[in-house]
Amino acid sequence: MYDILIAGAGPAGMTAAIYGARGGKSVLMLDKMNYGGQIVNTPEVENYPGTGRVSGFQLAQDMYDQATGLGAGMDYAEVTGIEKTEDGFLVHSSFGTDYEAKTVILATGVKSRLAGLEREEQMTGAGISYCATCDGAFFRKKDVIVLGGGNTALEDAEYLTNICNKVYLVHRRDKFRGEEIAVKRLAAKENVEFVLDSVPVEILGEPKVTGLVVKNLKTEETREIPASAVFVAYGRVPENGAFADLAELDGAGFFAAKEDCLTGTPGLFVAGDARAKVRRQLVTATADGATAAMAAIDYLNALEG
Ligand code: NAP
Repeated sequence: MYDILIAGAGPAGMTAAIYGARGGKSVLMLDKMNYGGQIVNTPEVENYPGTGRVSGFQLAQDMYDQATGLGAGMDYAEVTGIEKTEDGFLVHSSFGTDYEAKTVILATGVKSRLAGLEREEQMTGAGISYCATCDGAFFRKKDVIVLGGGNTALEDAEYLTNICNKVYLVHRRDKFRGEEIAVKRLAAKENVEFVLDSVPVEILGEPKVTGLVVKNLKTEETREIPASAVFVAYGRVPENGAFADLAELDGAGFFAAKEDCLTGTPGLFVAGDARAKVRRQLVTATADGATAAMAAIDYLNALEG
């Protein structure tokens, strides 16, 4: 029986683990993948206070070392469901193992949004990718395409300009959603081309990607861009359906909890990008982790009297 079980070992979950362990509680993090969540896919983080410029991978490693160094544990399994019991919660995992915990923090994050193209899933791994830092090196000196106009797309495109021959950034509007500093840095690169007001319509190539057909929404003209890879950076969507009975979801599927990270179920808390919020940043995720863990500690202390 753990005091605090944390579903998801991204920045929110690892921060919750740090606070929980420092609060003297037994803590276990569960994650289907490695620890770190989305930041491991971020080439460089430069807006997390106090770290300067650091790779997302390194920052994740540092957070993990800090959490486990303070006594938190980690198991590699996906939390597939939770049940309320008399003593707390029964947590079901993908390996068939059940865990018992007095409190649970759901820090389940979000997953990549698909571009919605025909053959997209079939071609994933054959030139379609959702992670430039994971797969970029496979396309060294090749031409590649990045889809999207947010910070992820801008940073992915900049990262790829250092590896690839040419990078096309295809965005549906003529203004970027991402920050000005990232736009300027990318625009300064010689081997980038912005393809604005445009959306992808067809993946070319079989069995591997050889290009993409894009359509300009203003002129209605289509254009074939030859490329070996297409990196989709269309943001992320939540996957919280399995927990909806115990933690209310909003219309978009995010946990409908406020900044206090409380759910309608006593002892169950939510944190990070999976929660309904205006800004999804590393610093807002870690803030949630701290808030949720402190609420769990208060709850446990009140139980113990
Ligand atoms: P995002 O900000 O939601 O941007 C998604 C982009 O994809 C938008 O430009 C959007 O276009 C486009 N898009 C979405 N669906 C589309 C569709 N069906 N067809 C065409 N285009 C589509 O996602 P993100 O870039 O992954 O960033 C997520 C959060 O993480 C943001 O808060 C971001 O600031 C943060 N982040 C921060 C950093 C950093 O600070 N270093 C790095 C990465 C991410 P529209 O703009 O037209 O809507």
